[in-house]
Amino acid sequence: MLTATNKNKMIPAAKMQHRGGDSELLRKHACLNRMQIPSHLPPPTIVAASSQVANSSDAETSAAVARHLELHLGLFEIGRPLGKGKFGRVYLARHRTSGYICALKVLNKDEIKRERAEMHVRREIEVHSNLRHPGIVGFYGWFHDSRRIFLILEYAAGGELYKTLQKEGRFSERRAANYIAQVALSLIYLHSKNVMHRDMKPENILIGLYSELKLSDFGYSVHAPSNRRDTLCGTLDYLPPEMLQSDKPEYTKAVDQWTLGVLTYEFLTGEAPFEDTVAMTHRRILKNHMKPLPASLSPEAKDFVHSVGDFTPILIL
Ligand code: ATP
Ligand code: MG
Repeated sequence: MLTATNKNKMIPAAKMQHRGGDSELLRKHACLNRMQIPSHLPPPTIVAASSQVANSSDAETSAAVARHLELHLGLFEIGRPLGKGKFGRVYLARHRTSGYICALKVLNKDEIKRERAEMHVRREIEVHSNLRHPGIVGFYGWFHDSRRIFLILEYAAGGELYKTLQKEGRFSERRAANYIAQVALSLIYLHSKNVMHRDMKPENILIGLYSELKLSDFGYSVHAPSNRRDTLCGTLDYLPPEMLQSDKPEYTKAVDQWTLGVLTYEFLTGEAPFEDTVAMTHRRILKNHMKPLPASLSPEAKDFVHSVGDFTPILIL
């Protein structure tokens, strides 16, 4: 399940994804119903619904309440598309009764089946629903109908960090350091829960209402208490050498730390350090052969980026 960030890098893989996509286009053609940006209401009580039901002594009332509180599409007003994912789109949505603004990630069941990705989607829901951290997009609940699965997510009003990076070209050292520190905190939290993200990249880092970063997209994440995995997955430019060394690689959560180094490089220069043709990217990563950093960067920034290969001692808890 290797994916490529560059459209020319067609890697034979069941789960292929491309950088960027047509979300810009979607934005332009979106039929919008004019929605307000969140007015800081607390999250809707949708996830708490089951506990309210469980506490009720009257079974009949409970069943009626449960039916009433059951999640379904009719509870939401759907707004503009926010982005396009592998199995569907993500929409801005408003929970009708509370007025709470959220993002609704819609996954098409047929496409999931076609790609044999049932286990991935199950994992995404299991992993994400157990995470609660300001640096991670909130997961409020999920439901499904005959054709689709819906994930109710915290709305990240600033969109993808990737788009901001594209627009600005690169970030100053101060800003890059601030961003990397935020992502590192989210990672420390994830790893403390024995979760490996395995697909960190600027497209999967969203920006919140206060310009804070929020890690998202747990489609390749895994809960691994043994801290040992062997599936090749993620996005080529961000993979560490240990994932590419053999067909059956063995790796630990240190894979995410490697990616933190790759992200630092990309924030400072606007491009990924090993980006090349597929074969060359492989080769470069295996040799830890980054493209040269601009001479104008401070020695501290260069040192930080070059220590990418020995990141392990810095973050492992
Ligand atoms: P891919 O594998 O291509 O990354 P995916 O199916 O895993 O896709 P996501 O990455 O979760 O889908 O979402 C696709 C896009 O939708 C994101 O890149 C982002 O632009 C937008 N998006 C997703 N979640 C949110 C959110 N909570 N708030 C705002 N925008 C979002
Ligand atoms: Mg994504």
